[in-house]
Amino acid sequence: MRTLKTHSDLTQKLRQIDRKGYKRYKEIQGVYQFPEFILFIDHVQGDPFASPSRICVKVPIKGRIPEEFIQGEVEKTAVEDFLGRRFKQIKPSVIKGRRGIGKSGLIEIAAGTQKVLKRNAVVLSHDAIEFRFVMGLPASGRTILGDEASAMFMREIPDIIKKTMEIPRRELTLFVHSVRDQEFLRNSLVQHGLIAFVADQSILPRRSGIDDRPLSTGIPFISPPSLRVTLSTPHAGEISGMGIPEGVTLIVGGGFHGKSTLLNALQMGVYNHIPGDGREKVVTLPDAIKIKAADGRYIEKVDISPFIHNLPFGKNTGQFSTENASGSTSQATGIMEALESGCRVLLMDEDTSATNFMIRDERMQHLVPKEKEPITPFVDKVKQLYTDRGVSTILVMGGSGDYFDVADTVIMMDTYEPKDVTSAVKEIIRHTPSRRTHEGGNMFGEVRHRVPLSHSFDPSRGRKDVKIDAKGLFTILFGQTQIDLQDLEQLVDIAQTRSIGILIHYAAQKYVDGKTPISKILDLVYHDLSRHGLDILLPYRVGNLALPRRLEVAQAINRMRTLRVTS
Ligand code: ADP
Ligand code: MG
Repeated sequence: MRTLKTHSDLTQKLRQIDRKGYKRYKEIQGVYQFPEFILFIDHVQGDPFASPSRICVKVPIKGRIPEEFIQGEVEKTAVEDFLGRRFKQIKPSVIKGRRGIGKSGLIEIAAGTQKVLKRNAVVLSHDAIEFRFVMGLPASGRTILGDEASAMFMREIPDIIKKTMEIPRRELTLFVHSVRDQEFLRNSLVQHGLIAFVADQSILPRRSGIDDRPLSTGIPFISPPSLRVTLSTPHAGEISGMGIPEGVTLIVGGGFHGKSTLLNALQMGVYNHIPGDGREKVVTLPDAIKIKAADGRYIEKVDISPFIHNLPFGKNTGQFSTENASGSTSQATGIMEALESGCRVLLMDEDTSATNFMIRDERMQHLVPKEKEPITPFVDKVKQLYTDRGVSTILVMGGSGDYFDVADTVIMMDTYEPKDVTSAVKEIIRHTPSRRTHEGGNMFGEVRHRVPLSHSFDPSRGRKDVKIDAKGLFTILFGQTQIDLQDLEQLVDIAQTRSIGILIHYAAQKYVDGKTPISKILDLVYHDLSRHGLDILLPYRVGNLALPRRLEVAQAINRMRTLRVTS
């Protein structure tokens, strides 16, 4: 058996290459046995400014994590998230930080947000835990600083690992239990006829648009009595709060009264949150999708005829394509693509919708006859979406009472407090009936499944066969193409964005054959992911991926300007 190099070998090597050219750092690539763990130097950066070096530390568990938390997927994800978070919190108190130019001295792990996501920064197996992070190998100019590197490998990393692994058992247990409860709540929605649940005392508002932590002065949520349900959880016992039933739900109320804040919390309810977030008992069906107008987006042969037909100049809306969508066509497309992906809940906000897609009132119907208006407004389709296709909608709509006729539940936000005004709305319908005419027929219409062609997904760029990267949360660089995801509010982590790009490439290589529809392709990919984890996406080890939802991947594919589907 080949004996492993030891940490002393690494020290010696670093001494050898000290003050030499940066490229010689490549010589430390390899595996080293440390007293408490194994260190893998998987990839060494080419220069001090390049992407930092990829490191993995594998620590034996030695009974430090309860056996029951290593069995199930949910628990494992929670433990991994917890440890990644600890690593990240402990790091600043241990490391010196800057140790030269460029990225010298940096240690970074992709973990620790308000959400508990499936990631590969920490990977738990039966006997060991892998911590995967990146590290900037220290340099002055282009010269190796061997002593500085030694300090990082011999002191900082062992220190972070040691402290991270002093796991506070009680805190870990509360964390795992909270995640388990959230999964349990989300899974119990359907049997109660609900699509979402907001526990009493939840804190919904956030500090700011760029700070996802709870607003410290946030007023706790209290359910209206008539919508209050009590759900049981394995650890927190009975929890009461507002249940949003299937069907069409309106959120109404004056401006600034908290409508969008409620909807935002609901759209984040597809994810689990950390204890103390305020939304850790807010859950929504996992396939709920926020739909916005996204003018300017690309559309490839989507059947939007349920919403739009008879365009001027006879443009076909059964297979509608454009390089530059309008607000209304983009919103219609978003809905049809969501249905194609099999989603069961639509979330919409008047703030981010196209007016002419949402409403067309009685007076306008008099002025502009139906033959001259290609758009069938959402108000005429939202009910059919539920009755014909079982798709529920939660809609923030403070601006038009025309939706009263099609609503099953109406929640009014009044100074951040929800009130059930469904019967008041019924009363209004009785004494002030709407005189607008229903348009767009009696059935919702068909949803067409599209089959992508393989030349849609060329990841090459210049001399590189595969060049895929995330540039910020909302942009993927895929070969020569830039995928703009600006309107995907439920994309929450750049590690997801990165994964989407890589996942599209994986799907294209493995399952795109000119015969399989997009949704089927994604089923196959997610089946692979559930069996083998995120690591199947790349041939080498990284720690900066997080699992995106299938829906966001579909949305990314749909926005690729190179996408071509069969006719
Ligand atoms: P609307 O959509 O009804 O116009 P918003 O949801 O945008 O209102 O809320 C308006 C403001 O009130 C936001 O700045 C938000 O952070 C704040 N807010 C919302 N809900 C609460 C709450 N429960 N406690 C404190 N502030 C809140
Ligand atoms: Mg609003």
